[in-house]
Order: sequence, then C-alpha cells, then structure tokens
Amino acid sequence: MGEDAQHLRSGASPPPAGETLPPILPDPSDAEAVSASPTSQTPMMRQYQEWKRRYPDYLLLFRLGDFYEAFHEDARVAARTLDITLTSRQKGEGAIPMAGVPHHALDVYLARLVRAGLKVAICDQVESAPAKGRQLIRREVVRLVTPGTVTEAGLLDGRLNNFLAALWRAPDHVGIALVDVTTADFWIGESTDADGLVEALLLRRPAEVLLPPGVSADDPLAARLRSAGAAVTLRDAPSFGLREAEDRLRAHFRVAAVEGLGLPRQGGALRAAGAVLAYLQETQQSPLAHLTRIQTLALEDHLTLDEGAARNLELVESLQDRRSAGTLLWAMDRTRTSMGGRLLRQWLLRPLVRPREIGERLDAVAALAEAPALLAELREALDGIGDLMRLASRVALGVATPRDLAALRATLGPLPALRERADRCGNPMIRQCAEAVEDLAGLAKTLEAALVDEPPLGVHEGGLIRESWNPALAEVRREVREARAWIAGLEGRERERTGISSLRVRYNRVFGYGIEIPKSQARAVVPDDYVRRQTLVGAERYVTAELREQEARVLGAEGRMNRLEYELFDELRRSVAGEADRLVRTARAVATLDVLAALAHVAHERAYVRPVVDDGGVLEIQEGRHPVLELRTDGARFVPNDLRLAAGEVECLVITGPNMAGKSTYMRQVALIVLLAQIGSFVPARSARVGVVDRVFTRIGAHDNLARGHSTFLVEMTETAAILRHATSRSLVLLDEIGRGTSTFDGLSIAWAVAEHLHERRAGAKVLFATHYHELTRLAAELPRVQNVHVAVREWKDDIVFLHRVAPGGTDRSYGIQVARLAGLPAEVVTRARALLREFELGAPVPTAPGDAGQLALFGGPGATRPEEAGATGPASPPPPPRHPVLDALAALDPERLTPLEALATLDELRRRLMSGP
Ligand code: ADP
Ligand code: MG
Repeated sequence: MGEDAQHLRSGASPPPAGETLPPILPDPSDAEAVSASPTSQTPMMRQYQEWKRRYPDYLLLFRLGDFYEAFHEDARVAARTLDITLTSRQKGEGAIPMAGVPHHALDVYLARLVRAGLKVAICDQVESAPAKGRQLIRREVVRLVTPGTVTEAGLLDGRLNNFLAALWRAPDHVGIALVDVTTADFWIGESTDADGLVEALLLRRPAEVLLPPGVSADDPLAARLRSAGAAVTLRDAPSFGLREAEDRLRAHFRVAAVEGLGLPRQGGALRAAGAVLAYLQETQQSPLAHLTRIQTLALEDHLTLDEGAARNLELVESLQDRRSAGTLLWAMDRTRTSMGGRLLRQWLLRPLVRPREIGERLDAVAALAEAPALLAELREALDGIGDLMRLASRVALGVATPRDLAALRATLGPLPALRERADRCGNPMIRQCAEAVEDLAGLAKTLEAALVDEPPLGVHEGGLIRESWNPALAEVRREVREARAWIAGLEGRERERTGISSLRVRYNRVFGYGIEIPKSQARAVVPDDYVRRQTLVGAERYVTAELREQEARVLGAEGRMNRLEYELFDELRRSVAGEADRLVRTARAVATLDVLAALAHVAHERAYVRPVVDDGGVLEIQEGRHPVLELRTDGARFVPNDLRLAAGEVECLVITGPNMAGKSTYMRQVALIVLLAQIGSFVPARSARVGVVDRVFTRIGAHDNLARGHSTFLVEMTETAAILRHATSRSLVLLDEIGRGTSTFDGLSIAWAVAEHLHERRAGAKVLFATHYHELTRLAAELPRVQNVHVAVREWKDDIVFLHRVAPGGTDRSYGIQVARLAGLPAEVVTRARALLREFELGAPVPTAPGDAGQLALFGGPGATRPEEAGATGPASPPPPPRHPVLDALAALDPERLTPLEALATLDELRRRLMSGP
C-alpha cells in the first residue's frame, strides 16, 4: 500500500463498509502498489509523465486508488485553487509536490477548477488489475474538461449558455464562432466592424475563447476577454487553418461544399468555426451529432448592443455585482424551464429589427395574453419539463448517465399535454411550435421499460436495467440472488451444524468470504470440511470448498450482470442518441413556447400593452414605466411619463432636473421599452409606437461607472468615439450625466460637440441627454430639432419634493443644496451654503438666464461656475476671480493614465482652447 499510504489525511473517505454484500472487486491499486518500487522514477511516475507530455496545457488529475492526484506544478496550482494541502511524494531529494482530491468528490473540485478558468485532463484507471505479465494498471485520459466544453449538469448553470468561442482577426475583418455544446447553439459571425463583433461576442459572456497563434497573452484583446470572465486558450495554426476548417465543416455537416452552409464570405468566420469544431472533437471525443445547424450572427439582422450598453442598461447583469437581480431579464423572466430562461436571455441580447418578424412574435404573445385560461394550462404543462436540451446533448455526446436518461424519461411525460394545449391556440407561430414538439411516446415507453425507477449514477455497478427488459439479465440476476441467498443462509446453517453460536460469516477484501470462529471457542470441534485460512487476533478463519464455489459463483455472476447491464445501458443510450435530432427540435420548440408564454404572462399580469412597431421614424410612448423599478415593493408608486421623438421634428431631448429627480430612470425606461418592443414583448406603457432602432448606445457618466475602476476619462472617450463612428439615423443614443470624469468644461464641450455632430451628420438619430448641468438647455436654442424637458420638483419652503414627472422646458436651477440636505449634510453647512448662494445670486457676476451669456460663457465664462458649488467650497465674499478653464482641464488630467499620443492630443487641444478662449 506504499503508494496510497499518504492519503490518510482529511478528506479521505473510508472504503465503503461491508453492507449486506461487500464490494466484490478488490481495490485495483492494491496489487499495483505492491509492485511499484519507490525509486526516483517509478514505473507509475513514468506513466504519469507520458500522459502529462500528451496534455501539457491541461492540469492532469491522475487516478491513484481512491484519489485523483496532481503532481509538480499542477499540484501547486491545484492546492492554491482548491485550498487543499500540498504534500509530497517521497521525501528528501526526489520529493515531488503532490495534491489530491478524493475520487468520489471529483465533480465538486472539477467545478472549482473549471470556474477558475483551468483546463483539466482526467487520467483514470481503465482496468481493475494489471494485465498478466505487467506491473502497472493501464491508465488513460478519459475526459477533458475545459471552461467552454463542460457538459456535466453539476458544472453548469441551467439559466445560462456556456459558450466556447473562437476569434480570428484578419487585417480587414474579424470572424467569430460561438458554440454551446450542451445546447446545440452554434453561431458564427463576420464583420469589418471589428469592435462591433468583439462586443457581440463579449455580450454573450463566453466561458472560453480560442485564439490563433500570434496573439500574445498580454494582447489587449486577450486582456479584454479575460476581464470579461473568459478563459483564453491559445491554439496552433492548423486548428485555425482555412483548408482544415473547410474539410472539418464539410465532414461534420455532410455537405459537398461549405458554401451550402451559408457562411459569410471572407473566411474569418469559417476559420473560427473550424477552430471550435476541432477543439470540441478533441475534448469530447464524440461525433457531436446534435450540432446540426449553424446560425449567422449578422450584425445587420439584429439590433446591435455593445457590452457597455447591455451593462449600463442592466439587461442581464446588474452593474453592481453582475448578478441577475434587478435586471431587465430578472423582471421579465417568468419562464418555467431552463431552456426558456436561456432563450429569453438570448432574445434580450439580440432584439429584432424587422417589423414583420417582430409582429409575428407580438401576435403570438397577444394570442396567449388574451386567453388567460389556455395560458395557465400551457405554463402548467411546461412546469414538469426538465432541461430537455442539455439532456439531449449529453445523450448525443455519449456522456449521459443513467440518471440523465431517467430525467429524460420524466421530461417526456408532459410533452403530449403541452403539444395538445399549444395546438389549441389559433396563433400560427404557436401552432408551429406545437407541431415541432415531436411525438416521443415510443422513446418514453422504451425508457420506462428498460430503466429502473431510480437508477444509480454509475454505469459499472449494475442496478440500472429492469430484469423484465432482457431475459439474459433476468437469468444472471436469478443466479446472483441464489448464490447470495446461499451465503446469507450459511451462518445460520453452520451455527446449527457446529453448535457454535458465535460463529460468523465474514468478508475480507483480500481473502474473500470466510467462516470465523472466536478463539474463545477454540476447543470446540470444527467440522472436517473446514480448511483453516487465517489466524486473526481473536479468531480463526476457515473456508469450505462449497463456500469457495458459491463465492466464485456470486463473483462470476455479478461480474457478468454488471457487464451485461452496462452493455444494455450503452445500447439504450445509443438508441436514444439516434433520436437526438428530434429531441433537439422538440427542445427548441419548448423553449420558444416557454418564452412566449412568459411574455404573455407578464403582459397580462402587469397590464403591458402591445406596441406598434414599424419602420417609421417616430418613437412615442404614453405613460411609460420602468419595467424593473415599477416592481419595487416599497410602496412608492411609480410615476409614468410620456415621450415623443420624431425624425425631422424632435430628435434630441435635453433632460434636466436635480440629482435624484428621475432623469436616468426616464431615459433608461425609454431604451428598455424600445428593446422589449423589438424582442416582441408587450411594454409597460399605456400606448407605444416604436420605429425600429438599429442600435442602442449608452454613455453613462463617470459616477455611475466608478465601481468598474476604469480610467473614466478614457472610457468616456472610447464610448463617445464608438457613438460617433457607428451611430446611424436609426440609432438610439443615451447620454447620461456626461462629463463627471473630467472637468465640467470637458464634459459640456464633449456633450455639446456630440449633439451637434449627431444632429448634423446623423439626422434622425434619437438622442436623450440627461444632465443636472442646466447650462445644456441652451442646446435647444442653437439646434432646431432639440427640445428641453425637465423632471419636475416642487419647492416647498426650503425643501424640494421629487415629483418624478417629466414636463416640457428646461430648468434653470440645480437644487444642489436641497439635495445635499436630503442627503444628510449637517444643518450648519446647509445653512451656510444657503447664505452664500443668496449672496452669489445677488452680487456675483453670474448670468443665470440662457440668453444672458453667449456660448463662450458656457465653456469659459464665469457662468460656468455654479453658485452653489462655489458656495460650498469657496471663501465668503468676494468670490475668487474666475479661473481660466484650461487650468481646470489641466488639473483634471491624470498623466499616468494618458498614452503619449493622448497626451500630445490633449496638449494640442489645450493650446487651441487657450488661443480661442476668453
Ligand atoms: P437622476 O438621474 O435624476 O439623478 P434617478 O433616475 O437616478 O435620478 O432616480 C432617482 C430615484 O428616484 C430612483 O432610484 C427612483 O427611486 C426614483 N424615481 C425615479 N423616477 C421615478 C418615477 N418615475 N416614479 C417613481 N420613482 C422614481
Ligand atoms: Mg442619474
């Protein structure tokens, strides 16, 4: 036991105690351990090295008896990641770092390794004892587990896709592929808009991204992927090869030419698709028969959301902790199945742009929302349906466990009811889904007949298959039962025969069954046919020829039974795999029905309305509400608000009002209503008309974004650049509290310039500006299609009351002191600030009316110093002479965060401002 002796430490489980019947197979490592000599390079370590050489990028877990062990650097990584003890194999000079986990808890530890972004190779014992003439047990890598290719239900989140992605960068375009091997989702995309496509990729939070050689680990792209939570795996050139990709895809999809798959033309997507396929084939060792279709992720077919917009609008992850609570998905997700949950998430991240397609979904939602009784029945039928998609995938991959098949069997049960109910609905889209729910009664019957009610997890220990399923199995089971019964009855029979009441029949791992007679009975006469086998501390152990024979019978029959059951199970699994296509098709239909039913349920329950969605340039919302905030349960009523934007008339709203008035809420609710409408959902409003939007941009001011710890100014610039580069006349642009990351003047200047630019170059684009800098209201005077609105507050004595009501016109005050007071600033500070404010308002040269100061004053004049700001921090009177804005801009710079190029540009900009400034 030399090899395994070191496992006597916490976490090691005792071998299963002898229950009614003790384990039949000896511990495989017993025999081997005895023969492996503890020299510096034992045969076993050579075996280990051999496998490690073949899987150098993987953390190799090597099965030794009851443990999976990692050695050398792998051991250090495992110990660190899993918080387990780092021990060593052999002491002294040849010591090898080692860390191990008990075999029965493998999946728990695997989950943690994979979540940490590691790739793991499981090297298992594939025979129970060394073959004749050899010392070592054969071991093989039987499983590769990587973040993007895990298939075990326990390692996956039912509500999320688990995407493996690949990305290819060519000089003139970028190609991506995304595949979830557990749900058969396979998407590819290609674009000259590299940023846009990378955003589309990041939006889907891939678990693992394959990159071609030449991308170094510190490439900004790799860093970006990692910071979005993806494990980055560098692959070799052939796995991204064009020819290789063609061959691989042709073979997989059984087409004569890849053109038949409708792939984009430039090659990037093809290479990426080839790369994911190659990686899957390598890690899954399966034909991947369930990956039957490839979908294109063409940017122009859908409303484009970048990762920033999805994050700022909190579509599927909250800004605070990336969880789902408080997000749009959270508010809308009333799906009943995991498949539906995943699909709704996909819909939210990929709204449609074609009114006809949107209309089809809206029709379906309307049909269900208008038939609450049918809707309730439909949702009830969905309730019992498990994750058919993932089960089907596991079956197709050949990794389904007996429990998976039992779960599949349970899930097939409610399908006919679902189909029947969906079929009753008159809506074409729902009818289509009903038709796609396949008749799987035959399969359900087979599984029912073959599989026991509650099968075990493992496939090698028997107990899976019903006796009635197979006559040979019934026969061998009978044999096992008889032999076991014989042994079970032996004790009683021998006690009677010998008259020794303390005689016991015992099992021992090494020696098998034996009859034990305590030493205290040593003088008793044992029958002639007893053969002494072993002398123990307190007893003698005997066997009889008959016992030997029956023992062999049990062992033989059990071995045959286990093998036969495994064969029958494998056969069953393969026959189910033959139905993978139909299962996947059914799963997709169930997912769609589930999402439509959930949307209808929400619409019905929360009095949403059906939006009018068309190609016109009008966005008009009456009494719109924020879908998430209106669910708050703290009793405060949500105040609905209107909005109207129309191309050629009003394209930009400047929304002013004090902090906390509701500006951000208002503009987010507009964006969320548009997105909901474009996924085909009803919307929280009294009425809504939505001219389809092709892209939503958000630029959220620094203070809302601080938690991310980015260089705020850089983020602002990047986002602004993206808006100017990509916004079209059909885009919706939200600019919220810009300019906080830098000086006031920077912020205002940028906002102003962006507005002007969009106004002139992208006429039609819908822009919402929210700002507490009331100076921006002057935009309306300068630009024809800009309008001011403000979020009203009521002044009451010295306080303000937030009305959360949006009204025409701008504000001319910031109410900073009142908000500060509400926020709990000490009374004497508030009083002092008020006094100062009055003084400034009376005496200071501060023009407050928009007309008073020209545009220059906005950027540099004394008007830019807001009275309450100066009052809070400055001395009493007289106010300090106005500082030149360039000084402010300089003070706000963070040289360490500027690249040399940015520094140069900034310098140039400052000089320009100085020359033209006041
Ligand atoms: P601002 O952006 O103007 O500083 P927010 O939009 O962040 O203000 O809103 C501040 C808070 O006011 C929100 O968290 C919400 O609690 C409340 N609020 C905003 N709009 C409404 C509304 N229409 N009805 C009810 N409460 C609202
Ligand atoms: Mg705000």
